[in-house]
Amino acid sequence: MQNKESGEVIKDNYGRKVSYLRLSITDRCNLNCIYCRPGRNTRFIAHDQILTYEDMFYLLGVVAGMNVQKVRLTGGEPFARRDILYFLHRVKSGFPHLDIRLTTNATLIAGKIRALKDMGISALNISLDTLDREKYQRITGRDFLRNVLTSIDRCLEAGIRVKVNVVALKGINDDELESFVKMALNKPLDIRFIEFMPIGQNTLWEKDNFWSSSEIIQAAGQLTDLEPVSHRDINHGPARLYSLPQGLGRIGVISPLSNHFCLTCNRFRITADGRLRTCLFSDRDYRLLPLIRSPKVSKKLLKKVLEKAGLKKPLGHEIMGQEGKARVSICQRVMSSIGG
Ligand code: SAM
Repeated sequence: MQNKESGEVIKDNYGRKVSYLRLSITDRCNLNCIYCRPGRNTRFIAHDQILTYEDMFYLLGVVAGMNVQKVRLTGGEPFARRDILYFLHRVKSGFPHLDIRLTTNATLIAGKIRALKDMGISALNISLDTLDREKYQRITGRDFLRNVLTSIDRCLEAGIRVKVNVVALKGINDDELESFVKMALNKPLDIRFIEFMPIGQNTLWEKDNFWSSSEIIQAAGQLTDLEPVSHRDINHGPARLYSLPQGLGRIGVISPLSNHFCLTCNRFRITADGRLRTCLFSDRDYRLLPLIRSPKVSKKLLKKVLEKAGLKKPLGHEIMGQEGKARVSICQRVMSSIGG
């Protein structure tokens, strides 16, 4: 159901409107993925600095009245936060018109799949970068591959749509393209390769490990027929998808670097400590937590702050222009603390 646009819409100076919020509900994660938290010594945010469920519920109430239609709960690992099902239930019943989505590593959902389905969570984005057990351990630091694969199957059986997100890492998982294509041929799910982004001070990003979307699609096209899927709905997201005439699922690519989608960006991000980022790649942020908690700050004032921040949303990012540097990072915070 679409929320009718009221006068209070978050717009920027380039004609873009914010209709999509990514809310990080924790910066904590039970995995240590090499591309997400490199160095593995990232300090977690102190508990009293993290948005409470009450804070988040309040904030959702504010943005829901400002034409935000879709909210993705992410992290960190959302299912690592205690009482997540309680929160989801509250959000689903409190904001029935909001399209609530989740991104998860699927290592902690086994006992929750039925409850998710029952409360109306109809789709999950599941991160999975390899189908090889030993490599999974190297990438994430944990031996959970079988667990994740089983949960993917249980979700499909329960009627929950699954989008598998694979961070494309040349020299690490490019040799597994065929296995992922087979998975998409055999199962009714989307497999989407996301270009590796240089995020966080100690990022491992280098030109040599960058595996571009065009290379991926070209190579996948050698393995099976691909038919481009066209989308008209702005909320379908930035993935370019291909259906597989010989199979059940689809293959897709998300190209934040080689073919960035800044010009149509409709997103705001809220970090686990309540900082608003108007652009993933910009460290400029706005501390909302004190405003959310202050009895002196009305919803109306908070809306004004969001509107003003919207006007400062950058047009785009310049990462591919930074040729010549061996290793670059375009923002300081790691992805797990921003909310991927
Ligand atoms: N823990 C959840 C999960 O694993 O899906 C949610 C958080 S995770 C940060 C969200 C997404 O960000 C995942 O799909 C992850 O693979 C992706 N991601 C993290 N760091 C990235 C990077 N440097 N480049 C591209 N994608 C990245």
